[in-house]
Amino acid sequence: MLSECNNVFESIEGSLSKRMVAIKKYQALLAMIQNDKRASEVVIDVLRHLGICYLNIGNYAAAGANFASAWSLCSTSTQKDLKKDIAYQIAQCKEEDGDLEGALDWYKLVCDSFGMFSTCLEGVRRIERKMGKNSGIFPRQPKINTRKEESLVNEFQDMLPTNEKRSIAETMKRCDHCSRGGIKLLLCKGCANDQEAPSTNYCSKECQKSHWKNVHKYTCACSKARLITGQKVKVHSLDKSPQYNGKDGKIVTYMKEKGRFKVEIENKFLALKPQNLKKIV
Ligand SMILES: [Zn+2]
Ligand SMILES: [Zn+2]
Repeated sequence: MLSECNNVFESIEGSLSKRMVAIKKYQALLAMIQNDKRASEVVIDVLRHLGICYLNIGNYAAAGANFASAWSLCSTSTQKDLKKDIAYQIAQCKEEDGDLEGALDWYKLVCDSFGMFSTCLEGVRRIERKMGKNSGIFPRQPKINTRKEESLVNEFQDMLPTNEKRSIAETMKRCDHCSRGGIKLLLCKGCANDQEAPSTNYCSKECQKSHWKNVHKYTCACSKARLITGQKVKVHSLDKSPQYNGKDGKIVTYMKEKGRFKVEIENKFLALKPQNLKKIV
C-alpha cells in the first residue's frame, strides 16, 4: 500500500494539483493505518512524506504538524538518521513559519541529541541573530578531536580535503535544490559516472524533481536537453535585456552557483537561465 502511494508520488512532475493528489492519497493511507501499533514505522514514513509534500507547496504549518506527528511516534528503535532528519525538518518549518522561539528549541534539540552538526549550528546562530540574543552555550565551536566530532568527521570524511582543516559547514554536501545538508543525500544516477556533469545531490525525490525541471534537465549527462560547451543556442523571452532576444550564441560553461549558463553572444558574455535558451540543432 505504501509502495503504491510512493509510485503515485514518484510520478509527480511538480504540478500543484498532482502534489495535492499525492497528499490526499497519503492522508487516505494514514487514516487506514494510523491506529495500527504494528504499522508505526510505516505511519512515520507516511507522515514524513506528507510533511515533504506540504514543504514543497510552501505550507510550512501543515508540513511542521506532520513532521511533529512523525516525531511523536519515534521510539528508541527508530533509526537515528531518520529521527535527526525529522527533528531538523520541524526546526526548519518553525523557522519558515515565523516561530523563532520554537525553531531555536528544535535546532538546539537536534544539536544536543544527535551531535553538533553544522547546518543546525547555523540555524541556531541565524535565529539568535534575528532575535538579538545569545544563549551562551551556543554556538559551541566544532572541535575536530573530540569523540563526537570524530564520528561527524568520519561521516563526512569524503568531503573533507586531506591537508586542510576547513569547517564541516564549508565542505558539507547539500541538497542542490533546497540547500539542506547534514542528512543522507541522493545522487542523480544519470550523471554519476560522468566527469563533466556537475555532481548533483538531493535530500528527497521531490527536490530532485523540482531541480530537474528548472536546472538539471539542462546539465544532466543522460538528458536530451543538455547544453554542453560549444552548443549553439538561440536566446528568447528575456525581459530585462530584450535586445538579445532572437540572437544566436554559444554555451561557454554552466555556472552551478548561479544556476545559469555563461553564453557568448557577439563577443559578449551573458549569464542566462536555461529557460531562455533554445538549442540550435
Ligand atoms: Zn532538498
Ligand atoms: Zn544527472
